[in-house]
Amino acid sequence: MLRIDFVTIFPRMFDAFLAEGVIARGVKQGLLDVHVHDLRDYTSDKHRSTDDEAYGGGPGMVMLAEPVLRVVEKLNVDIQKPHVVMTSPQGRTFTQAIAKELAKKQHLIILCGRYEGFDERIRESVNPDEISIGDFVVSGGEIPAMLIADAVGRMIEGVVGNSGSVEEDSFFNGLLDYPHYTRPEEIRGMRVPDVLLSGHHEKIRLWRREQALRRTLRLRPDLLKNAELDDEARAILRKIENESG
Ligand code: SAH
Repeated sequence: MLRIDFVTIFPRMFDAFLAEGVIARGVKQGLLDVHVHDLRDYTSDKHRSTDDEAYGGGPGMVMLAEPVLRVVEKLNVDIQKPHVVMTSPQGRTFTQAIAKELAKKQHLIILCGRYEGFDERIRESVNPDEISIGDFVVSGGEIPAMLIADAVGRMIEGVVGNSGSVEEDSFFNGLLDYPHYTRPEEIRGMRVPDVLLSGHHEKIRLWRREQALRRTLRLRPDLLKNAELDDEARAILRKIENESG
């Protein structure tokens, strides 16, 4: 079972996330153990402050180190040290590979920043795994934390109903997903490809494989460089390349 602790000054932002969807199901099934901690409960002054002005001046507040260090210490109760993730635009960029890596941990603590971010000494003291969700800045770590937890949670065996569907998702095998169709067979003159109605499982498998490769080649050729391709995939790629050449 994977335990995830979120640390935030806006715990209510997690209510809907934890009430519905894949993470909620994982919790119900006993595959995930998720907790939200209000950073204000770890403050020591009467205003329950979690931030203060920056030394050296300038605009914007900085998250206090002490409450964050206290909550991390309190949660450090397992035999194995929890893996502390700090949401930050300065971290390594989140990918499916990182989601898989985090899914192997027993206990994640995800720190959600606000304002200008965290007092630098939290980094010194905790040496967190700093993770960014992309090269842009959002106003708080809560949405990044939920995003990371969702991608990690669905990597846990059994959390997503059909584990095959996770393995076929985009990026799981280093490629984009193949196209999907559902009823009806024809809509506004657009038909479902015949092969998908053929009932021929091997042909369908090959068609999907080819479509995934075509798509990746067209939309994300950079992914193909790092994808682990077997002989079949390489043969399909050669065929596609010959068409255009
Ligand atoms: N001044 C900081 C940004 C602070 S944004 C800097 O430039 O590094 C406030 C908080 O939002 C951050 O502490 C972090 O928790 C979250 N955040 C903002 N952008 C993010 C991103 N791309 N990935 C992950 N977390 C992010």
